[in-house]
Amino acid sequence: KAKQNNRGRFLIYQPQMDEEVSEKLNITTGLRQALSNNEFELYYQAQYNQAEQIVGAEALIRWIHPEKGMIPPFKFIPIAEETGLINQIGDWVLKTGFEFLANNPNFRGNLSLNVSAWQFARPDFVPSMLAMISEAQIDVTQITLEVTESAVLTDITETIKKLSEIRSLGIKVALDDFGTGYSSLAYLKNLPLDILKIDKTFIDELETNDRPPLLESMLSIGHHMGLKVVAEGVETQLQLARLIQMKCPVFQGYYFAKPVPKAEFLTLINQEKAIS
Ligand code: C2E
Ligand code: MG
Ligand code: MG
Ligand code: MG
Repeated sequence: KAKQNNRGRFLIYQPQMDEEVSEKLNITTGLRQALSNNEFELYYQAQYNQAEQIVGAEALIRWIHPEKGMIPPFKFIPIAEETGLINQIGDWVLKTGFEFLANNPNFRGNLSLNVSAWQFARPDFVPSMLAMISEAQIDVTQITLEVTESAVLTDITETIKKLSEIRSLGIKVALDDFGTGYSSLAYLKNLPLDILKIDKTFIDELETNDRPPLLESMLSIGHHMGLKVVAEGVETQLQLARLIQMKCPVFQGYYFAKPVPKAEFLTLINQEKAIS
């Protein structure tokens, strides 16, 4: 009876919070199990040039839960960041991506790996990544790290140092979700980058506008700063045609390919004629 009352009170005052907290706890426990039971999988989404050849891929994590099935990253990455589990998960992503490159020399393109803000902020991020790279015995020039604006804005001086170090090793750096964060052009100017990834929200506008002004500006900024631009979330032929008109060089999106498991991705690249 008392238990019922307690529960009732909770439900009256903060039902949503209660649910959120228990959902978070569930996921946290689940993530620890997922790490020890190998429930994560890397999917690969191909990236294409204007000639529609595969020039690279982005690795995207999936959690294949034994009972709940596939859990998308937006449901667990934020919680992994809050709990610190992102460090182990992030290491797993890097290690798995590097192993992919080591084991598939016929993939000559670039492999993009997402790095979370917390992971990037770790003082040992670069040395620990280098240890994994030398373990895998791979060519670093095939690696791109994707960082977000929130990752690079935490400590701008430290970020510039770290990014310069990473680039001096021959690893490329992409700024992910460009246009959605708060970074000003003044920051952008000082960031050692190779690639700008324009967020899908700007690509969506191409459906109703053949030259959206913000998209055009972002492409122009990328061009003038000597950065390669990747359009994310290209879903239609119309969007692609308009992006080509605007001289965008690289595309990623469902129009070309969805993120797929490794075996399927290997089939996809083997179907292609060799790219030089
Ligand atoms: P992101 O890095 O910006 O990745 C692009 C997201 O857009 C992916 O979602 C991809 O599946 C989706 N996408 C690509 N093309 C299309 C399209 O044409 N239409 C639509 N509707 N969506 C498209 P996903 O795989 O669910 O990942 C979401 C986010 O989770 C990623 O955004 C990234 O921030 C994070 N994430 C994924 N994998 C990792 C990882 O290994 N480590 C870290 N730290 N974060 C990751
Ligand atoms: Mg990304
Ligand atoms: Mg993105
Ligand atoms: Mg995103």
